[in-house]
Amino acid sequence: MVKIGLTGGIGSGKSTVAALLAERGAVVVDADRLAREAVAPGTTGLAAIAEEFGPGVLTGDGALDRAALAAVVFADPAARARLDAIVHPRVRARAAELAAAAPPGSVVVQDVPLLVETGQAASFDLVLVVQTDPETRVARLVDRGLSAADARARIASQATDEQRRAVADVVLRNDGPPEELAAQVDRFWSEHVEPATC
Ligand code: ATP
Repeated sequence: MVKIGLTGGIGSGKSTVAALLAERGAVVVDADRLAREAVAPGTTGLAAIAEEFGPGVLTGDGALDRAALAAVVFADPAARARLDAIVHPRVRARAAELAAAAPPGSVVVQDVPLLVETGQAASFDLVLVVQTDPETRVARLVDRGLSAADARARIASQATDEQRRAVADVVLRNDGPPEELAAQVDRFWSEHVEPATC
């Protein structure tokens, strides 16, 4: 098995690259989806959050009130760290389970937005970083419905491209049209993934 950690700033094109890798046969594990599943109704994750942050972070029917929780942790790094300590270990455990369940010889890609921030680079055989000029990311995020101010604030709250480059085995640039990204994914696959699976 080859384990690839895929990361990049918000709106850089991680999901797009993950989809291109899936087309080439990779098994994709999406950390954002696992994070949502980790706090779904009935989970120990949601119970731990309710205990830590109080009933104000739950909706009337007992699900997570994401907006209320975001308001609590947004300006409070200690609260953010307490939330991360609940969610991240659960996401990692589930990601490891899914990777272990993939057929032998699989190429497993984990899309981990905060790979650098959470110090996970060493968990992967290859770290693939997607980089896109911040203003292009803002424009693409605005097209997706985010305000420009929110997009810039989220970009500023994450690791820098330089920090991501420092742990990257390969960097893909996504400033151009989708075909250029697809060509880079093809090259990554033939130069790095195929040799690693032999
Ligand atoms: P997030 O961090 O929010 O999960 P992401 O890094 O997964 O985002 P994508 O969702 O792949 O990024 O891309 C962000 C947006 O930009 C999407 O709407 C996507 O369709 C669009 N996009 C990605 N690459 C390109 C491109 N080369 N040209 C134009 N639009 C693109």
